[in-house]
Amino acid sequence: MTLQVVVIGAGVIGITTALELQRRGHSVLVLDRKGIAAETSAGNAGAFAFSEVEPLATPGIMRKAPKWLLDPLGPLSIPPAYAWKIAPWMYRFWRASRPDRYENLLGAQASLMAFSKTALDQLISTVDGEHLLQRDGQMQLYESEAEYRASLSTWKLRREHGIEFELLESPTTIAEMQPGLSPRFTHAGFTPNWLNTVDPKRWVEHLAEVFQGRGGRIERKDIRTLSPQESGMRVACADGTIDAAKVVIAAGAWSHHIAQSLGDRIPLETERGYNTTLPEGAFDLRMHLTFSRHGFVASKINGGVRVGGAVELGGLTLPPNYKRADILLEKAAAFLPGLKTEGGTQWMGYRPSLPDSIPVIGPSRKSADVVYAFGHGHLGLTQSAGTAELVGALVDGQDPPISLSPYAATRF
Ligand SMILES: Cc1cc2nc3c(=O)[nH]c(=O)nc-3n(C[C@H](O)[C@H](O)[C@H](O)COP(=O)(O)OP(=O)(O)OC[C@H]3O[C@@H](n4cnc5c(N)ncnc54)[C@H](O)[C@@H]3O)c2cc1C
Repeated sequence: MTLQVVVIGAGVIGITTALELQRRGHSVLVLDRKGIAAETSAGNAGAFAFSEVEPLATPGIMRKAPKWLLDPLGPLSIPPAYAWKIAPWMYRFWRASRPDRYENLLGAQASLMAFSKTALDQLISTVDGEHLLQRDGQMQLYESEAEYRASLSTWKLRREHGIEFELLESPTTIAEMQPGLSPRFTHAGFTPNWLNTVDPKRWVEHLAEVFQGRGGRIERKDIRTLSPQESGMRVACADGTIDAAKVVIAAGAWSHHIAQSLGDRIPLETERGYNTTLPEGAFDLRMHLTFSRHGFVASKINGGVRVGGAVELGGLTLPPNYKRADILLEKAAAFLPGLKTEGGTQWMGYRPSLPDSIPVIGPSRKSADVVYAFGHGHLGLTQSAGTAELVGALVDGQDPPISLSPYAATRF
């Protein structure tokens, strides 16, 4: 039997996309070698961060990088064993940060964010997902007047893109909004409409349950290659083959390996990130906190606290360095005196990252029967519902609701 659509990857992108394709009337099979939300979508910070419209590759970022790299446990690191391998990606990242490219990338990121926000609102109601959300807002914290002033251009940009926020210049107001915070934070920006899930893994599992409840199938399969057939695609797994009319590759940080089997080379890398999840009662966190200068956040997960972030450009095979999670937790304990740091669980995840900070959403260069949906970097949860709708339109041969040219695989 030829299936209509096979989705490779049961992370937040694959499962959300599968649900959308099912809603459009397709028979959909999701394949994943590890199961539902078993990789990056399991342990992220749980934020739908629609205000983060600015691409990571911002003008001037390469001047800041050397300072960060000097501290091996700082917010950005490159293990020496990976330095040569990441060099071509870094070069593309630098090119993307140049002012002429940056403006277009900012537009593309902002457009996908706005589209994804509307798509998420619809998704929440169609899957009855409100019980898995927290609408507490987010506070981005600064430790000095100078740091705060330097951030104002980013806030201006957010205002231009319709994001509501309040700038807080009084430590007393900040302390009232988040009791227990160190007084070192003198300024902040508060984004009231920021949204978090109570647990990113539970969010994807819930979507998967809805999908399966409506007749969708999810199977454990390790995908090796894709090959075009007279009509449709053959998916070669470790234990057999499956034929499909269309295939969506949503395999996160591993997607380029599958694309390469078609002869498509996509410069996907991974920005590894770390966190520690503390049990319920660790701290009375009132909202999502972002410690800007230190590259990490604290979010409420299942009533506990998840402290995480950092970027390690270390590829897919080097062992994790959990000292990075230890350092973030130490810093969090200094910033939130009273944080109970015992009983935590450490985690490392692989952000799937393209050098220009925006994903690939579009047909493969090699076959219109294969649609790519990967490379969402720091924002996969945030952009999942929008990505799903765009892939749905592509699979159905419809005009996409926003221009897809910035996200095309052919841009590399
Ligand atoms: C520390 C950290 C914090 C983050 N915080 C946030 C946040 O707050 N908000 C946000 O929006 N984003 C956040 N992110 C980013 C977000 O987690 C990712 O962008 C997102 O999870 C990517 O989803 P995905 O479905 O593309 O990939 P994944 O969740 O990694 O799923 C890919 C799936 O493909 C499967 N797969 C891979 N290869 C194969 C194969 N050959 N055969 C079969 N299956 C295969 C894997 O098993 C996996 O299940 C964070 C990331 C990190 C690391």
